Amino acid sequence: MTDFQRPSQHTFSLELFPPQTPEGAEKLRATRARLALLKPKFFSVTFGAGGSTRDRTFDTVREIQAEGHQAAPHLSCIGSTKESIRTILQQYRANGINRLVALRGDLPSGMAEPGSFRYANELVEFIRTETGDWFHIEVAAYPEYHPQAKSPKDDLLAFKRKVDAGANSAITQYFYNFDAYAHFVDQCQALGVSVPVVPGIMPISSYSNLARFSDNCGAEIPRWMRKKLESFGDDPASIRAFGLDVVGALCEKLLAGGAPGLHFYTLNQAALTTALWQRLKL
Ligand code: FAD
Repeated sequence: MTDFQRPSQHTFSLELFPPQTPEGAEKLRATRARLALLKPKFFSVTFGAGGSTRDRTFDTVREIQAEGHQAAPHLSCIGSTKESIRTILQQYRANGINRLVALRGDLPSGMAEPGSFRYANELVEFIRTETGDWFHIEVAAYPEYHPQAKSPKDDLLAFKRKVDAGANSAITQYFYNFDAYAHFVDQCQALGVSVPVVPGIMPISSYSNLARFSDNCGAEIPRWMRKKLESFGDDPASIRAFGLDVVGALCEKLLAGGAPGLHFYTLNQAALTTALWQRLKL
């Protein structure tokens, strides 16, 4: 097995999305209280395309901080002006937030203007120019390649550009193929890109949602997993049990192989992430 990165310290983190309603906010507080028991390094909070969740992302981040945890807001740049990104950076900095997940994002349908930034490396460069080393900047990585990439090589070079622009580390799109991650990290090392690439982990609670999601973001569900998940039909308990086994085994293999941590896409649910965390004895 490849010993890809030999981390001196692992980073285990949890991703949330900002709630849309006061009831959702209340529910998320309860979920967070359960997830906080796991003592993650940080909670990241997603940012809606085109800035649609700007205030809700900020509010959620402030709550997380007030609860005594490190929060890392996501920030996507497509459709935004430099002025609006500058204002957000200043707001975060003034509130002591020093970790960001910097993304391009996707233009929401109906929004034609790409704004001041075309790709995430331009955002990373802008953040560094505006704020120096204040932020620890995470960027996205795609072991199975981004769906819009012209070629695997182009995608890898696009990733390198983000690191060269000043990203400190990366979180991957979720994947279920261990070899895709191992290959990606090997390719990065061959290019001299040595920042930690933390695998993004998607627990499995529903086959139909996962299939829809995966088709959109270019993450592959291997055929054998699809077949098994399909065979469970409308039986959530079997889907969850199978998902815990498969995803738990993937995480074990990743950590044994030297992955520098794990980032869980919690989808604002505590149960499956907690079960995985306990199984892995993190
Ligand atoms: P980029 O790194 O800019 O890459 C986008 C595409 O452009 C790739 O295909 C790349 O190969 C190509 N490319 C890059 N540079 C060039 C160039 N110079 N010329 C030609 N092609 C180029 N989305 C949200 O809206 N909100 C979130 O909070 C959010 N969080 C995420 C968190 C993680 C960990 C991940 C993995 C994804 C997240 N996304 C989020 C989804 C992300 O916004 C989409 O995948 C988006 O399509 C790409 O963003 P990026 O930052 O990876 O873009």
